[in-house]
Amino acid sequence: MNNIKNIIETQEIQIFIKNEFAQGAIGDFSALDTWPELWVFDNADLDRAVAIVKSSYSSKQAVDWICKNYDETNTPSFKICWNCQSENA
Ligand SMILES: [Zn+2]
Repeated sequence: MNNIKNIIETQEIQIFIKNEFAQGAIGDFSALDTWPELWVFDNADLDRAVAIVKSSYSSKQAVDWICKNYDETNTPSFKICWNCQSENA
């Protein structure tokens, strides 16, 4: 999360983190529910900040994958092979 904050701040968008210390404090909820929230100070920056977050998350898996039948190379946005419909294992 701090990593993403740094990335956004390099774009000269002012943000702060809410719930930074809430992680791990809540028992059975999924990790997503207890994730810290990133807030932008200026609403005008929101769209840009969201785009940065999305691209930085997706870049982790932004590699093409080859389906198990080796019949097709699929882009990361595809969860199933567009050629034979087998899942990305
Ligand atoms: Zn396939």
